[in-house]
Amino acid sequence: MKYKGRFGDYGGFYVPEVLIPVLEELEEAFYRFYQDEHFVTELAQLSKDYNGRPTPLYYARRFSEYVGFKVYLKREDLVHGGAHKGNNTLGQGLLAKYMGKTKLIAETGAGQHGLATAMIGALLGMETKIFMGVTDIERQSVNVHKMKLCGAEVIPVEGGTGTLKDAINDALRYWTAHVMDTFYLFGSAAGPHPYPTIVKYFQSCIGSETRRQILEQIGRLPDMVVACVGGGSNAIGIFSGFLNDKDVKLIGVEAGGRSLASGKHAASLTTGRVGILHGAKAYLLQDSEGQVNETESVSAGLDYPAVGPEHCLLKDTGRAQYVAAEDEQVLDAFELLCKKEGILPALESTHALAYLISQKGKLNSETVVVVNLSGRGDKDVSIVEKHRPLKD
Ligand SMILES: *Cc1c(COP(=O)(O)O)cnc(C)c1O
Repeated sequence: MKYKGRFGDYGGFYVPEVLIPVLEELEEAFYRFYQDEHFVTELAQLSKDYNGRPTPLYYARRFSEYVGFKVYLKREDLVHGGAHKGNNTLGQGLLAKYMGKTKLIAETGAGQHGLATAMIGALLGMETKIFMGVTDIERQSVNVHKMKLCGAEVIPVEGGTGTLKDAINDALRYWTAHVMDTFYLFGSAAGPHPYPTIVKYFQSCIGSETRRQILEQIGRLPDMVVACVGGGSNAIGIFSGFLNDKDVKLIGVEAGGRSLASGKHAASLTTGRVGILHGAKAYLLQDSEGQVNETESVSAGLDYPAVGPEHCLLKDTGRAQYVAAEDEQVLDAFELLCKKEGILPALESTHALAYLISQKGKLNSETVVVVNLSGRGDKDVSIVEKHRPLKD
C-alpha cells in the first residue's frame, strides 16, 4: 500500500495505522463500482438532470479581441451549485451510497466544498456533517447558512488557526472513529491515496467534454489549456482530456496573493518545497523549519498550502507549467470578463484569465486557448467591491 497511488515520488499514503484499512476499503469500492453498470447509469443521469452536464464550451469573442488570440471558456460556472465541485461531490456521494454508507462528512475552507457536499447529502438523503475552522465560519457566514438550509450540520474546528488544514485534520480524526457508516467526501485531487485518483476520475468529464467540443467547433485541438490550481481538481479534470496530446500546452495558475515577494500567498507549486501534509507527499508551503505556512489570497478557494500529487509530477516532467497570478491582476481580469462578456467569474477561475491577459500581444491571433471557468463569481462580488469600489 505504501507504493500505491504514487505519481513519481509524490502522493502515497502517509497516514496513521488506523486509517489504512479505511482507505483500502475506499480504494477497493471505487474500483468495484466506477465501471459498474448501475453506478455508471445513475451517475450519468444525475450528471445531466441534477448537475446540468454537459456544460457548454463558449467562444468569448470580445474577450478574445481584447487579448489578441482566440479564447474559449469551459463553462463549469454553470454546474449546479456554481462550480466544478458538484462533479466530485455527486460522484463520491453516489459511491458512498453504493458502499452502503448512510452518513457523509467533509472538510471545507471557504465553504464551497461544504455546500456542494450538503447539497448532495440532501439529494441522497444522507446525514451530513461539515468540518469548518472557526475563523472560516466567521468569514463565510453566508455559506454556513446555505449548508444548514440543505440540512447539514456544521462542526466548528477550534484547533490551529481555525482554517482549512485544521478542518481536514479533524475530519480525518472523526472518520477513523465512525468509519462503519460514514464516508469522507474529500474536496480536491489531493490528500492520501486513493483520493487524488478518485477525484480526478469524477472531474475528468470536464476534459473529455472539452476535447470533444473543441474538435466539433474548430476541427482541431487547442494550442493551450489553462486552469487555476488550489488543490488541483478542476485543473487535473480539464488537463486529463489532453495529457497525451503533447502539442497542447497545459498551464496551471496559482494564487500569488498580494505578491509572491512580500505578502502571504498560496503558490505551492511555484514556490513550495517537497514535504508531507494530509497523508501525501507534495510541494508544500513551509518555513525553513518545515512548519506549514498560512496561505492568503483574494480567492479563499485557492487557499490550500499543498497541491495534488499529479500536478507535482507534471511540473517536474515539464508536461505542465505552473505560474502565479497576483491579486491586482486577478481583480483586473475579473472586471474585464464582466465588461467584455457579461460573465462574472469566480475569483479562483479569474487567476487563469489573469494569465491570459499577461499574454496579450505575445501570442499570434490564430492561437486557440481553452480556459476552465471553474466557477461563477456571484459569491465574490462583495470582496471585489471592497478592493475596487465602483465610481458613480
Ligand atoms: C474550490 C475551487 C477551486 C479550487 O479547487 P481545485 O481543487 O484546485 O479545483 C477553483 N475554482 C473554484 C470556483 C472553486 O470553488
